[in-house]
Amino acid sequence: MQYLQQRQDVLRAAQTIARTKMVVGTWGNVSVRVPDKPYLLITPSGMKYDTMTIEDIVMVDWSGTTVEGIWKPSVETPTHVRIYQQRSDVNAIVHVHSPYLTAFAVAGLPVPVILEETAQVIGHEIKTAPYAICGTARLADNVVQTLGSGVAVLMANHGMVGVGRNIEEALRVCYIAEETARIALLAQSLGQVRALDPAEIEKLHRGFAAYGQTKE
Ligand code: 13P
Ligand code: ZN
Repeated sequence: MQYLQQRQDVLRAAQTIARTKMVVGTWGNVSVRVPDKPYLLITPSGMKYDTMTIEDIVMVDWSGTTVEGIWKPSVETPTHVRIYQQRSDVNAIVHVHSPYLTAFAVAGLPVPVILEETAQVIGHEIKTAPYAICGTARLADNVVQTLGSGVAVLMANHGMVGVGRNIEEALRVCYIAEETARIALLAQSLGQVRALDPAEIEKLHRGFAAYGQTKE
């Protein structure tokens, strides 16, 4: 079996979002781009995360046809494929149904940039892609269009998609987005939500490369 590291990355991320309740049951999905081919490795559809193994991860081509694997790939494969096709900078995608982000997706309200880490990691408000039924080409179109050159997009009445240059980045986008939505809702209950100034957001976002111990 090839691409062991990439398979491990998908499995570890999928089990992490399940364990930390960013999804309930078998919902949500994770993929990475295969480095040297127009393929992706994606979680199988509707499979329990705790007993999933790297053999269960499905390799599909950009038409959604299985190249390797015995299980049906995630129903959101069209959305993942469309993102990789449109965004050469994206190598990993994580789709979650976490409660605070999904509340914004149900309300159809953008998640504002209210925290420094929102500005650093995401750098833009998180807009909601118009509703379309899961797994459809229309949903894929809506998501890609609303995502634009950003890293996070809400799916109306559904959840969120986070993207990154690698799996750590895509996961970090999802967790920072969920925390931002949680704090925004709490601030709202106190009476006001004040977003950061666009110039500060830009400065923080650009400065994030220098944050922490190592540069990615
Ligand atoms: P899959 O189990 O097919 O990935 O579907 C879950 C989901 O979240 C659909 O949007
Ligand atoms: Zn979903």
